[in-house]
Amino acid sequence: MRTSEDVCLRGSCLCGGIAYRAEKPVQHASHCYCIMCQKQHGAAAGSYANVASAGFTYERGAELVTEYASSEHGRRGFCRVCGSTLFWRSTQSPDRIAVTLGTLDQEFDGPVNRELHTDTKPGWLPLRLPE
Ligand SMILES: [Zn+2]
Ligand SMILES: [Zn+2]
Repeated sequence: MRTSEDVCLRGSCLCGGIAYRAEKPVQHASHCYCIMCQKQHGAAAGSYANVASAGFTYERGAELVTEYASSEHGRRGFCRVCGSTLFWRSTQSPDRIAVTLGTLDQEFDGPVNRELHTDTKPGWLPLRLPE
């Protein structure tokens, strides 16, 4: 049985004010350990699924989305109420958007096949231990 999860990723922010959907396919998924991602997420990495921006839509709360220009071309979207980080996009590739894996409502089940900026990957990352 095909459900909407087969064709779309669905996500929302911590306060629930914003909900979005992003059509698959995911081109690639990544953990980015650059210092800007660490600062913005307050975490070891920014984790993203790269999808087509044409298939990205807000189901609610578009007016709550705020963008921070972290570099000349980089734009980081977040909820202005709760601070959840929602996406990264580049004005140099307007056809793509990278949505944050942590805001997805269902655990991302695809492979995360890229690690970026591993030179600044922190040593305190937790291990994924067998259960
Ligand atoms: Zn929010
Ligand atoms: Zn990064």
